[in-house]
Amino acid sequence: MAAEKREFQAEVRHLLHLMIHSLYSNKEIFLRELISNASDACDKLRFEAIADPALLGADELAVELVPDPAAGTLTIKDNGVGMSRDEVIENLGTIARSGTRKFLESLSGDQKKDAQLIGQFGVGFYSAYIVADKVTVLSKRADGEAVRWESDGQGEFTVEPSFKLDRGTEVILHLREDDKEFLEPLRLKSLVRKYSDHIGLPIKLRNDKGELETINQARAFWTRPKSELKDEDYAKFYEQIAHDYQAPLAWAHHKVEGTIEYTSLLYIPSRAPFDLWDREQSRGVQLYVKRVFIMDKAAELLPPYLRFVRGVVDTPDLPLNVSREILQGNRTVEKIRSALVKRVLDLLDDMAANKPDDYAKFWAAFGTVFKEGLVEDQANQERIARLCRFHSTTSDKADVTLEAYVARMPAEQTGIYYLTAETLAAARSSPHLEGFRARNFEVLLLTDRIDEWVVSHLTEFGGKKLVSVARASKDLEAKIETPEKARLEGEFKEVIERLQKALGERVEAVRLSSRLTESPSCLVAGEYALSRRLEEMLRRAGEQAPASRPILEINPTHPLVEKLKATGDDAAFADLGELLFGQALLAEGGQLDDPAGFVRRLNKLLLAGAGAEPSRIIVG
Ligand code: ADP
Repeated sequence: MAAEKREFQAEVRHLLHLMIHSLYSNKEIFLRELISNASDACDKLRFEAIADPALLGADELAVELVPDPAAGTLTIKDNGVGMSRDEVIENLGTIARSGTRKFLESLSGDQKKDAQLIGQFGVGFYSAYIVADKVTVLSKRADGEAVRWESDGQGEFTVEPSFKLDRGTEVILHLREDDKEFLEPLRLKSLVRKYSDHIGLPIKLRNDKGELETINQARAFWTRPKSELKDEDYAKFYEQIAHDYQAPLAWAHHKVEGTIEYTSLLYIPSRAPFDLWDREQSRGVQLYVKRVFIMDKAAELLPPYLRFVRGVVDTPDLPLNVSREILQGNRTVEKIRSALVKRVLDLLDDMAANKPDDYAKFWAAFGTVFKEGLVEDQANQERIARLCRFHSTTSDKADVTLEAYVARMPAEQTGIYYLTAETLAAARSSPHLEGFRARNFEVLLLTDRIDEWVVSHLTEFGGKKLVSVARASKDLEAKIETPEKARLEGEFKEVIERLQKALGERVEAVRLSSRLTESPSCLVAGEYALSRRLEEMLRRAGEQAPASRPILEINPTHPLVEKLKATGDDAAFADLGELLFGQALLAEGGQLDDPAGFVRRLNKLLLAGAGAEPSRIIVG
């Protein structure tokens, strides 16, 4: 069969162009990427050999680097699984992977950063074109025919049947004139030490006499004793498994022997990956059984709220042929999982106590995800709550702990006060806070979407109930009530009845507020109703929310409310009432049913104010 010509997919072409024209300042990473692919191929073979031990044969799995100065080529050779013709076409010519598009979208233009992204997004093979103007791939699966793939990276590639004696893959880089440095043995050795030292199989360099020399540690990193390992070693291993070139914040390395046996090495990264928010995205630590790589992203080993943790778990207590299905509900896995959760929480406790700056970084990157644990992991809720950090009315940063909050509560305060809102700015200027601020009660400001669920699950901490300041509650209001309120109640009785009639079905009730000191009005949820924000979120998500009616609170000391009281004309009264209701809704980020009507009424009021008494224009 003759060579068949094919075109690269458009995205691949774009990527290749980028490789060739913009990543020249950090060329060396190509070697790391290709060695990592070769090592993955060996892991896959080892895995297939579990079912078919004959596959392994006598030869040791290894990666070989063969520089050939005469031909100007560097070959990266492995005896891993190899690829069939279809796999070569699929893997090296078509990337349907969503990773590529996201990679292209997240390029910053900063070469160094962009180069680091390559590994993270799984587009490693194409990095070959940073140093090569032509790449030839020879590959053969154990039971298949050899195939030859070749391309100059300009838009087309060819595939044809070929001859190859042994199973595995050879990636032959025809180096550009300027990149011949990658033929030098010393350069190759130092690169392998830098990037691939901890790969769990030997990387061998072939010299000009045809002799092979192993140039890496070739030992599973986590099996080495802690005493032998330095911080730099841990950081390097992290780079290798997480494809993240920013040093991790912390790690924990444990060997456990007992009823279950395992080694775990867990890392807390310092920044979030691009798909952290996607809960469906399978992720987690790598699982090894007796040093044999079993799977990446073994989601069952850690709960979703710890999905930012990277690392390795190696255990002899699971069968080698373990599948994702077996992992689910497996008792050994459950035990390892709850032990790992404790390890991560210990690690975070330690960081929070001893490295507060690092902890702040952790919180900024992963706090929102970690908080899911308050809902998900009832057994550890108290510990998780201690690790949470919040904004509050007394702190500009997200650094308030529940413990500190409770410790500085004044004696008369019985609950932990909070307000949920769409943004921090909206929370800080919310009318609901006025009375609490005036009396120096600290209020936690919760602005993450998850917070609505958090407060429905975390109902108390340290024996103190969490109390929303935007919800009707006699106890709460008694704390901030002014002595004049009783007198004013009598004075405003009639206005309240009139206003309630004017607003009709839209409100549950109208009443005088204890909360407001500056604003004329606000809406609060009934004592047992859903929170107003949660209702709004459900509605926007198209879910059926029980349509509960809010309570409208008005501030009897505000001139607009005084004006309402003095208004005899029914139509004018209704207009003003609408404005009080509408602005309360707007202030909490709600949507008006009739925005244009609201604006018309507002303009009418402004003009009336301007005409009659120019010095007393009131805009609320
Ligand atoms: P990634 O390795 O992140 O999936 P790459 O572009 O580096 O992305 O490789 C694409 C695919 O090509 C790999 O997933 C793998 O299936 C296949 N591949 C690459 N190199 C080899 C190799 N040496 N042996 C077998 N398969 C390989």
